[in-house]
Amino acid sequence: MKILVTGGSRGIGKAIVNRFLLEGHEVYAPSRKELDLSKPILLKEVSFDVVINNAGINPLMDFDKISNSEVMRVNYTSPLEIIQQCLPYMLKNKFGRIVNIGSIWIDLAKEKRSAYSASKAALHSMTLSLTAEYTSFGIIANTVSPGFIETDLTRQNNSPKEIMHLSNTIPMKRMGTASEVAELVHFLVTKNTFICGQNIRIDGGYQCTAH
Ligand code: NDP
Repeated sequence: MKILVTGGSRGIGKAIVNRFLLEGHEVYAPSRKELDLSKPILLKEVSFDVVINNAGINPLMDFDKISNSEVMRVNYTSPLEIIQQCLPYMLKNKFGRIVNIGSIWIDLAKEKRSAYSASKAALHSMTLSLTAEYTSFGIIANTVSPGFIETDLTRQNNSPKEIMHLSNTIPMKRMGTASEVAELVHFLVTKNTFICGQNIRIDGGYQCTAH
C-alpha cells in the first residue's frame, strides 16, 4: 500500500513509518520543510491508499491567553485539508484507510492543555464525519488516542520528576512506547475490517483511574 505519514521524523510518527517499512509498504513521510502543517496545504502527491495524520503540537497555554490559531492549524485544519485532497483517489479505488492520532486529552482536561484538547477533539470529530459519509465507499477512519508515551513531546511538557510521578499514576506503572502505538495503527490499517469511527485509547489504563 502507498502510505502518507505526517510527523515521521521522530517519536510516534517515526515508529509508524518503520512499522510499515518492515513489510515493504511504500511510505511517504515528508519532513516539515517538505510539508509544513502550520501553513495551508497543497499536496503535490495525492494518490495514497492510507493517510496517517500523526504530526501534532502541544504548546502549553494559560486559559486566559489561549490562541487557538496555530494549534488548530497544525492539529486539525491541515489534517483536514490533507484528507480533502486525498479523498478523490480513495473514492476512485473504493478503498482508503485513515488514522488520526488524537490524545487522551480529547476526553480529559489538564491545566494549560485547553487549545490542544480542542484541536484533538475537532480531529476526532473529523473521524466521525468521515465514517458517516465515506465508510460505504470503502474508506475506514479511526482515531488512535495515546496516553503518556515516551517521546520528545512528553519530555518537553513534563520534567523528569513529573515523568516519574506520572508513570506511577498509570496502572501499567510505565509510559507507553512509540512502537506500541505504531502496532495499533498497523493493525487498523492492515487487518481491521469493521472497527469504524472509533476513538481507541492506548494509555496503559490511565483513563480508568482517578487522579
Ligand atoms: P514529537 O513532538 O516527538 O514529534 C512531532 C512530530 O510532528 C515531528 O515529526 C515534527 O516534525 C512534526 N511536526 C510538528 N509540527 C509540524 C509542522 N508544523 N509541520 C510538519 N510537521 C510538524 O511528537 P509525538 O511523537 O510525541 O506525537 C505524535 C502525535 O501523537 C501528536 O499528534 C501528538 O499530539 C500525539 N500524542 C502524543 C502523546 C505523547 O505522549 N507523546 C500523547 C497523546 C498524543 P519536526 O521533527 O520537524 O519537528
